[in-house]
Amino acid sequence: MYNDSENRIIAPEYSAEDSETELSLRPKSLSEYIGQEKVKENMKVYIDAARMRGEGLDHVLLYGPPGLGKTTLAGIIANEMGVSIRVTSGPAIEKQGDLAALLTNLNEGDVLFIDEVHRLNRSVEEVLYPAMEDSALDIIIGKGPSARSIRLELPNFTLVGATTRAGQLSAPLRDRFGVVCRLEIYTPEELVQIVRRSSRILGIVIDESGAVEIAARSRGTPRIANRLLKRARDFAQVIGDGVIDHKNAKRALDRMEIDKLGLDSVDRLLLTAMINNYNGGPVGLDTIAAAIGEESITIEDVYEPYLMQIGFLSRTPRGRVVTPAGYRHLGIQMPDQQTLF
Ligand code: ADP
Repeated sequence: MYNDSENRIIAPEYSAEDSETELSLRPKSLSEYIGQEKVKENMKVYIDAARMRGEGLDHVLLYGPPGLGKTTLAGIIANEMGVSIRVTSGPAIEKQGDLAALLTNLNEGDVLFIDEVHRLNRSVEEVLYPAMEDSALDIIIGKGPSARSIRLELPNFTLVGATTRAGQLSAPLRDRFGVVCRLEIYTPEELVQIVRRSSRILGIVIDESGAVEIAARSRGTPRIANRLLKRARDFAQVIGDGVIDHKNAKRALDRMEIDKLGLDSVDRLLLTAMINNYNGGPVGLDTIAAAIGEESITIEDVYEPYLMQIGFLSRTPRGRVVTPAGYRHLGIQMPDQQTLF
């Protein structure tokens, strides 16, 4: 039950079960935000400089895989600037009028956070350009030959856009962000700190070895680390002594079928299907999707990035290929003809 794609415990996307604790676990200031040192240092300079000048912050684009802290960072930016934040997402803004309504309701200096900003439709983007550049809203009044355009002034605001796919952003939109930050996968040490911080907030008793075990299997992603921590607490309470030590953490993670590298049964199914049915590849994305009963887009966005990052899967012009490291991890002998690597 943990591994169908919607309820997948290691899916990095936000899910309903995160919501109860999401608010309390989100760091509120840059000093509480663990890791991402380069991004933090730069953001601090930009924020301090803008505050010294008494101006708003330039528009910020945050990109990187889901669950790494983009929304959290947007909230921190607003907090540190002492302004309010309005949160929305690309697909939620369907019409030009939706965006116009959002923009005209902002106060001076506010942050407008648009998640999945690459999914804004083009006509909405066109409203965004003058808003980002000149704090202005161009409205067309009337139709046909008598139509005319009037310009409304907007408050100065900071757009913080987040995307998992920077490559899909249109060039004119990308160019209008003055600050572009790429969030990186977290190191195991940083994840240990995150797990310890979350345990403190949630009142979970965990020792160092338990935190290390959870961190190691979290795919470098704080959202997954927090989720595994909560599930490990359940196991520790029901079958253990309530304390998440190494033994209890390991038992919980094994019960969830999450292996030492954070792979779950769907990851393993994907790799073994490629090996058993297609000789390890090259095989097309749609073929893999059909073989394991998942949607291509889910494979591309959720499963593949991590498998590629740890070097178990590679993309070639002819399709996806399981690497020797992938074979080794599954304990399957690699066929001789696959000496491509
Ligand atoms: P994204 O917007 O990139 O999908 P979020 O900002 O929603 O990710 O982060 C997911 C969760 O991970 C947050 O609720 C927060 O508790 C935790 N988190 C993310 N980044 C950090 C960090 N740097 N330090 C501590 N916790 C973090």
